[in-house]
Amino acid sequence: MELCFVCPIKGRFFYSALWEVNEMLAVREGQGGSRYLEGSVRVSCPLCNGEHVFGPDELLCPLSVREQDREHGANSKGGE
Ligand SMILES: [Zn+2]
Repeated sequence: MELCFVCPIKGRFFYSALWEVNEMLAVREGQGGSRYLEGSVRVSCPLCNGEHVFGPDELLCPLSVREQDREHGANSKGGE
């Protein structure tokens, strides 16, 4: 799964599927059936060639949120 990250050094975002779970990562369900991530991930940054650790809050990107909405919409129709 490709996620959107923001490099804190370059201040620009990038997409990467080469991230690793740094701490126990889990999908929790909140009130109203909304899902959110717990834990953190580590990713190699192509912008500064370093490694960054991001918490779930920092993974939120307008584009990735849109993708989640699309999945949610498909699920609510009962389609696979
Ligand atoms: Zn970076």
